[in-house]
Amino acid sequence: MRLFRSSEILGIAAETLEFVLEASEETHPNEYMGFLRGEDARDLGLDRDGTVITDVLVIPGTESNPVSATVKTSMVPNDRHAVGSVHSHPNGVLRPSDADLGTFGNGDAHIIVGAPYGWNDWRAFDRDGKRRKLDVLDVDLPDDEAFFDFTQEDIDRELSEDS
Ligand SMILES: [Zn+2]
Repeated sequence: MRLFRSSEILGIAAETLEFVLEASEETHPNEYMGFLRGEDARDLGLDRDGTVITDVLVIPGTESNPVSATVKTSMVPNDRHAVGSVHSHPNGVLRPSDADLGTFGNGDAHIIVGAPYGWNDWRAFDRDGKRRKLDVLDVDLPDDEAFFDFTQEDIDRELSEDS
């Protein structure tokens, strides 16, 4: 089973980064948390091999507070499009905590955004917690439907399976 894509991550769609920054600001002072998913660059019209981060999957059941966002491990997506994670630091510190480093093993790109959630208030890290380059790419996302492809039906199904 291959949980995460091995293809090189080229960057993040500008629209996706904007979404993450806005969602983090709305969640403040609590911590925002989600998983990053990507699409093949060629499917987005880029003449490059690799993956572009195009959407964020927020896991139902995430417990969020100002210090940490904890995801129920059973809810982590088993998904060929998964490339990493994103979460916010309401204290504005753009460095992974020790707890963060423990969760970075899966996926090649982990984004931390911090207050005040401006266009430069984020950093990307690799699975070892080292800074990594992540270009912001101006690509057209396929359509708005696909952007939020974790539907209410999916959430209802997960909830009914839990009970
Ligand atoms: Zn953190």
